[in-house]
Order: sequence, then structure tokens, then C-alpha cells
Amino acid sequence: MPAQVMDGKLLAARVREEVALEVEELGDVGLTTVLVGDDPASHVYINGKHKAATSVGIHANDLRLAADLPEDELLQLLADLNADDSVDGILVQLPLPSHIDESKAIESLDPGKDVDGFHPINAGRLYLGRPRLVPGTPLGIMRLLAEYRIETVGARAVVVGRSNIVGKPIAHLLLQEHATVTICHSRTVDLQRHTLDADILVAAVGQLHLIEADMVKAGATVIDVGMNRTDDGLFGDVDPGAAEHAAYMTPVPGGVGPMTIAMVLKNTVTAARARRGLVSRAS
Ligand code: NAP
Repeated sequence: MPAQVMDGKLLAARVREEVALEVEELGDVGLTTVLVGDDPASHVYINGKHKAATSVGIHANDLRLAADLPEDELLQLLADLNADDSVDGILVQLPLPSHIDESKAIESLDPGKDVDGFHPINAGRLYLGRPRLVPGTPLGIMRLLAEYRIETVGARAVVVGRSNIVGKPIAHLLLQEHATVTICHSRTVDLQRHTLDADILVAAVGQLHLIEADMVKAGATVIDVGMNRTDDGLFGDVDPGAAEHAAYMTPVPGGVGPMTIAMVLKNTVTAARARRGLVSRAS
């Protein structure tokens, strides 16, 4: 029997409804996005985030700045946003132009407003098992696993990819939920040996169909994070034929992607609650 589709679009709509209710309860919730330069993909992403934020009642402020903005001016702007009480969340769209040090920009954010969860304080808290603001993609994956009641305790989880925004944080979240976690990367020898062992397989690489159907164990849960744009459309890192072996699988598009934006909105509410001294709701 083919794998059950893990519908991220549907679940993301539900998360957005939850967020909308919380925003209504909290009153004004403010998110400021900062985009530097003319990268067309970044403009599309920011448009999507604004549409989503506005649809749940978040007051979204859209700052688009010239590609030659000096680094010190960006840092000053971020310092001003940190100090601005009407701003609950700040989102700096990456990549930044090459003359700006990305780490410096991220580290200058107030960790309590860092709704992307990229600040070292937020990454460190996650590593210590005391997460506060966690990147949207891994958070969305955990919500999908919970929704479909995928057992993580004692499960063998294999994460392919070790980026700071997906691979490492999802590995930590799975570890926290008591999975036995293996992280694979470009230097991993015999990838298939690892993936075939996975009860939960997360592919976050960015290589079209790197995970072939025969690399997936029967009955596995497969989370495909990859977004590979081709002339024929958007495809993941996992060959769709893997659905013949897997028990559950996320589609591309319509799986992890929509969850990412929804969880960034959720993070904005989490940040707003914390800033008002309120306990955050479970994600
Ligand atoms: P990234 O920073 O480029 O990291 C890719 C990772 O894949 C690296 O750790 C790399 O290993 C590893 N890798 C490369 N070739 C490999 C191979 N042959 N075998 C095993 N591992 C290999 O990418 P990312 O930002 O994590 O994104 C990964 C993919 O997810 C991309 O397609 C991206 O567009 C997508 N994405 C989707 C969402 C969403 O919302 N759906 C969000 C974020 C990212 P090394 O560390 O050794 O180089």
C-alpha cells in the first residue's frame, strides 16, 4: 500500500487558525521583516511571509533596503528594532549581500525577537534541551510528526543534511523526543546503509531525488525537506517511488514548505507572549 501523505498544507492552515486566535487574544502583535538587496527569490519569500502574517492579524512591517546598504547601517536598524516595543518579532531574510557579515547581523538581534531561531542563544538553548525560539522548518516537521502520531521514542531517526537551519535543529528536536539520531552529510560513506536503517528519515540536502526508492526502509516515515526547482516544477530530495515502501511521506510541494511559514508565525506569537510575561502555548 502506498504511503499515507502527510498533508502540510492542511496542517499549516490549522496552525494559522490557532495563531490567528492567539493574535486576537494578545491584541497587537508586530513582525518586522528586513530584506536587503534584489534577490528575486528572497522577494517572493518575503511576499509570502507578509501575506501569511497579515492573514492571521499580525501587524507586519516590510522593510526592503538597497543592495548597497552599509553593514553598520543595517546593524543600527536592527538595534532600533530591538529597542522598539511595538516589534515582537524580527526576521532578516537570508542570504544578505556579500559585503554584510550574516553572523554579525543575526547575532545583533534580540534573541527574544529572533523568530527564525537562528541566534546562537536560541541555537544553544535548543542544544541544551531548553528550546525557546526554534527555526520554522524543523518545528514544522515536529508538528507534522505529532499530527500523524509518529512514534519518536526509541525510533531510529536519520537526518540527511547538517545545516544550521534544518539538519542540526531537527536532529536535536528528534533527540529531545528520545529518537536515536544519526546525522549524515556530504562526507558520509555509504549513505544507503544509514537511510535503510531509518524509522524516520529526514532529507534536507537540496539534491533532486538523492534518496532513491530503494534507500527507504519498509514502513518508514519520510520527511522530504528538499526544494529543487526544475523546468518541470518543484521536486524534493526523495524519489516519489519511495512512497511504495514508506508508511508516511510528505509531498513536495505541500509538505514541509507550508509548515515553515506557519511555524514562523507561531514563533512570532511565542515571542509576543514571552515579551508580555505570558506562558507560551504548546506548538
Ligand atoms: P544546505 O545548507 O545547502 O545544506 C545541505 C546539506 O546537505 C549539507 O549539510 C551537506 O553536507 C549535505 N549534503 C550535500 N550533498 C550530500 C550528499 N550527497 N549526501 C548527503 N548529504 C549531502 O541546505 P539547507 O539550507 O539545509 O536546505 C536543504 C534543502 O531544503 C534545500 O533544497 C532547501 O531549499 C530546502 N529547504 C526547504 C525548506 C522548506 O521550508 N521546505 C526550508 C529550508 C530549506 P555538508 O555539510 O557536508 O556540505
